[in-house]
Amino acid sequence: MFWVFMEKFGIIVCPNCRKVKAVNLSVKKTKCFNCNKTLDLKKTVIIYKSNSRQEITNAIGLLNAELDGNLEKFKNILKNKKFY
Ligand SMILES: [Zn+2]
Repeated sequence: MFWVFMEKFGIIVCPNCRKVKAVNLSVKKTKCFNCNKTLDLKKTVIIYKSNSRQEITNAIGLLNAELDGNLEKFKNILKNKKFY
């Protein structure tokens, strides 16, 4: 079936408040958690797509860090940590 080949998750930037947000691409509309605006996915640019929810979450974390100017700080914090 066609939809199997499509990515399940995406990242959008709210055109109203510029917050990045994860979306389920099977829905047509989503609400911005920040400004509460209803966003039509057809009219919103999807900046990233993936089938992995984890990948989307990680990408959003990175984007938020980058937008806040904290990316280098985050990298430094993670550099000496072991996650196992
Ligand atoms: Zn918004």
